[in-house]
Amino acid sequence: MSALRSLTFLLIGSAGLAPLSGCGIGGGGPDFVAKYEPWRAVEERQCLASGVVRQSLFVHTRAALGGPSVCGAEQPFVVSGTASGRVQLNPPATLRCPMIPAVDHWVQTVVEPAARFHFGVPIQTMKVAASYGCRPINHVSGGKLSEHGHANAIDISEFQFANGRSISVKNGWRGDGREQAFLRAVHRGACDTFTTVLGPQADANHQDHFHLDLARRGRSGTHRVCK
Ligand SMILES: [Zn+2]
Repeated sequence: MSALRSLTFLLIGSAGLAPLSGCGIGGGGPDFVAKYEPWRAVEERQCLASGVVRQSLFVHTRAALGGPSVCGAEQPFVVSGTASGRVQLNPPATLRCPMIPAVDHWVQTVVEPAARFHFGVPIQTMKVAASYGCRPINHVSGGKLSEHGHANAIDISEFQFANGRSISVKNGWRGDGREQAFLRAVHRGACDTFTTVLGPQADANHQDHFHLDLARRGRSGTHRVCK
């Protein structure tokens, strides 16, 4: 692909144009670069048509994200609970359709069993450090648009249990044995569902949360990152 042709596939965006800015950066927000990626709309429409996501007490549709920028989703949802509402997301996460069954699957098959196994107590709430935000990866101006910009990612920073115990990624990753075991189990288990899983061992930007997303990478779109 010639340089000129590849340039035509670059869209330059700015977080300042987005209807929502989840990143807390003032001013116009950092600029980013993004490619036009047809799979995103195809995958979202297939998910919506499948009926796998339904409105409920804890899943609500919201106005389309995006508008003047490449960010957003056609039919985003605000999700305040997962696993049939047993586990709250606080604050509620703004997510595109495919992320909702993914979070649900991870919580039901990994997080809830790990909570029972390591602590004998149900998990009650997961603290959402970030979901939708029209911004470059790691907030680095000029970088590639984050999966958060497509509402295709969620950051979880803390797990709160029914008995009042809470375990943060920041403290628990190097906390006592059970905390370490629980957090490593939910981190490792996320790699079966999400295509990108980043935690404290990934880099300095992920010392206090797990980043989970459904990006497609590589020629086949199946390359996974789990670290
Ligand atoms: Zn993230």
